[in-house]
Amino acid sequence: MHKYIIMGIQGCGKGTQGKMLEDDFDLVHISVGDIFRWNIQRHTKLGARINRIINEGKLVSDEIVEEIISSRLKEHDWNYGFILDGFPRSRPQTEFFLESYDIDAVIHIKVPDKLVYDRVLSRRLCSVCGLDYNLISHRPEEENTCDVCGGSLITREDDNEQAVGKRIEEYHNKTEPVLELLERKELVVHVDGTKPVKDVQIEIRKKLDLPLDSLMQKESA
Ligand code: AMP
Repeated sequence: MHKYIIMGIQGCGKGTQGKMLEDDFDLVHISVGDIFRWNIQRHTKLGARINRIINEGKLVSDEIVEEIISSRLKEHDWNYGFILDGFPRSRPQTEFFLESYDIDAVIHIKVPDKLVYDRVLSRRLCSVCGLDYNLISHRPEEENTCDVCGGSLITREDDNEQAVGKRIEEYHNKTEPVLELLERKELVVHVDGTKPVKDVQIEIRKKLDLPLDSLMQKESA
């Protein structure tokens, strides 16, 4: 059983790296942002409460986030473990979480702020399967069309300059102190998120003592 948290400023690649760990180690990848976007798209009551906050790049309240995480983990569908993506993002969320759960490691993907704008503003998402694209480093073969399912690509509403600026500010003010707290518990491994996707994944696995074979097999296939 592996229980991980993956952290880093927006656009650092936590979604992509988390998904790679999910696929190879049967972990359940829990992204609070994805759960929120699901609710917004389906116009649920929760979606209506959080839509504006997210579009402005602010953090959703700790109470709402804690409720989402508790009920998601209570599903107990994580026989081989889980990877939490984008949680915790504040000190109260961290304290709340550590009261009930333990964790094996926190993966911190480091990228400088100046890369964040370029990466996030060129990000696109498939409107059907949710796959991530990037117009700089991972372009779809056909413009605006998902290579995998043919769905049309969209830009996240909070991927605009103003919201990106706010999210960077929230990250430094509220999320970075969380890293310090977790670091004191000797849980954090730091990886360089400026490298190509596969190299970042290799660094993560080496630092977590996870096998690399499945990554290498994919390359030779
Ligand atoms: P993400 O997909 O991780 O970039 O999250 C998108 C947005 O969802 C963030 O900018 C926040 O508004 C909100 N959000 C996601 N996770 C959290 C969290 N742990 N605490 C507060 N707000 C969150």
